[in-house]
Amino acid sequence: MGTASDIKLIDENGLRIDGRSPTELRPLKIETDVLDRADGSAYIEWGGNKILVAVYGPREAYPKHTQDIDKAVIKARYNMSAFSVDERKRPGPDRRSVEISKVISEALQAAVMVEQFPRAQIDVFIEVLQADAGTRIAGLTASSVALASAGIPMRDLVVGCAAGKVDGKIVLDLGKEEDNFGQADLPMGILARSGKIVLMQMDGDLTEDEFNQATELIMDATRRIYEIQREALAGKYRAMAIERGGE
Ligand code: UDP
Repeated sequence: MGTASDIKLIDENGLRIDGRSPTELRPLKIETDVLDRADGSAYIEWGGNKILVAVYGPREAYPKHTQDIDKAVIKARYNMSAFSVDERKRPGPDRRSVEISKVISEALQAAVMVEQFPRAQIDVFIEVLQADAGTRIAGLTASSVALASAGIPMRDLVVGCAAGKVDGKIVLDLGKEEDNFGQADLPMGILARSGKIVLMQMDGDLTEDEFNQATELIMDATRRIYEIQREALAGKYRAMAIERGGE
């Protein structure tokens, strides 16, 4: 969260710097099966974010001491490419990417039927090609689709979405300037059908009332994002049917 108070993020008509209303998402599209070698994959464009996700597994967890005798372990690895941001990002893991990998792994663990695969690991590689605020929730949203496209049994899809506070107003899905100069950012991961929250972080400050407003915006957007996820997966099955028809 920035401190520059002279930057106006909401105009006199209540519109945001990119012309959106407070409850509007940035443009969002998801594709599946974009990588041949992965067991499942997805590509997401969400605002200026461009993120690829590759899923491998379930396969025997290695090294062996990482195995869980009761369930599969999900290992998400979030990585920002050097060219994904304005100033070159130093390659390799850093504290931020380790933290994001951990919270995404935990969120996905809640959605996958991990108990069906004792001693296995499922790898989820999240490569941020272009970053524009909200990469963790975009990465999470795409990861969930990539897992489903790998045919991994899931109890639900996870939807990632954020809301925040800019110029004293609660708004959905912060863009880059809003993230930099706004007052709060609240990214969440939600199980689409049950509504259970599986990721929640917060940067900045919100009152209880503002927090409730932000959560409401996120919950409402979850339904819209879930439809886009389902559509991406339905597209995959339609394509498979056409392939089979042509055999
Ligand atoms: N960012 C950057 N360099 C970095 C890390 C982040 O330019 O090393 C930018 C990037 O656009 C990212 C945004 O800052 O999307 C917000 O980062 P944050 O840590 O809040 O995570 P995110 O919102 O992407 O989940």
